[in-house]
Amino acid sequence: MEDMVLQLKGIKKRYGAQQVLKQVDVTINKGEIYGLVGKNGAGKTTLMRILTGLTKQQAGSMWLLGEDGKNGYDAARKRMGSIIETPSFYPFFDGKTNLEYYNQQLGGKANVDEVLDLVGLGKSGKKKFKNYSLGMKQRLGIGLAILNDPEFLVLDEPINGLDPMGIVEVRNLIRKLNQERNITIIISSHILGELESIATNYGFLDKGVILEELSKEELEHKCRPNWKIRVNQPDNVLALLQETYGFSQIEMEEGSLILKESLPNPEHVTREIVEKGYDLYEFSMINKSLESYYLDLIENHKSGREKV
Ligand code: ADP
Repeated sequence: MEDMVLQLKGIKKRYGAQQVLKQVDVTINKGEIYGLVGKNGAGKTTLMRILTGLTKQQAGSMWLLGEDGKNGYDAARKRMGSIIETPSFYPFFDGKTNLEYYNQQLGGKANVDEVLDLVGLGKSGKKKFKNYSLGMKQRLGIGLAILNDPEFLVLDEPINGLDPMGIVEVRNLIRKLNQERNITIIISSHILGELESIATNYGFLDKGVILEELSKEELEHKCRPNWKIRVNQPDNVLALLQETYGFSQIEMEEGSLILKESLPNPEHVTREIVEKGYDLYEFSMINKSLESYYLDLIENHKSGREKV
């Protein structure tokens, strides 16, 4: 419990007749970068608005930094930072003046120069906000979100719309805040690949339902390559491989053998097949990308296997 930064159970939210969040169960532990992945309209922003108190859930339980209840949430939110809507900065002021303005509103406790350095804008000098690149604007937004030195940062689609350079800058900054400042982060995106190199954990949201939560390692394991083996006598080769290597995750699909186990020495297997006198037509690796895993998950959800 001490390590738990966020726990949501059965969160529901409706706007008028539209049930936007139907079943949201999320657990985030200290130190994680939690990638909330879902198509546009899945309910990501609504969920983040609930976390930050911009709107309220109608059902379910929420623990925020170990707190619950209204007073608990108010206390927890003082230890959080967020970017949900684009923050409004003064276009004709430089980054420092903009942050100093907000810092005063928050009680003037932050060292603005240090924050600007941290977000990589320490040398942006007198450049006016309106002349910033999108990546710089986003980093200044993150600077604003960390003025109160938060333990938990909520970032709604911070990478959306950035050019490749901006994407790298914002990703590096997020990693740095997590590793050097020990900030736990929830970050949403409608593109899984955007989060691939930074998220330590994933939650897949589709039509208001968290379909699956898993760690980076679990996701990579699920996406590990399969092997396709085409031979002249598949039934016999199937038996041979089961007997020789003890493979249990091997099956026949349209006349080919599909092996779903990691294979450190594939050449041993090919040699065994050939030495036993079978004709080997094909032995190939089938990669399953993270994106296709995610799309399959959504596809299965659509075809009726809903958790609701
Ligand atoms: P995402 O961030 O995943 O794109 P949103 O949470 O923004 O999803 O939206 C989910 C659904 O909720 C959408 O269909 C959207 O139109 C609806 N919605 C979001 N906010 C409101 C609101 N304030 N009033 C009515 N409907 C809303």
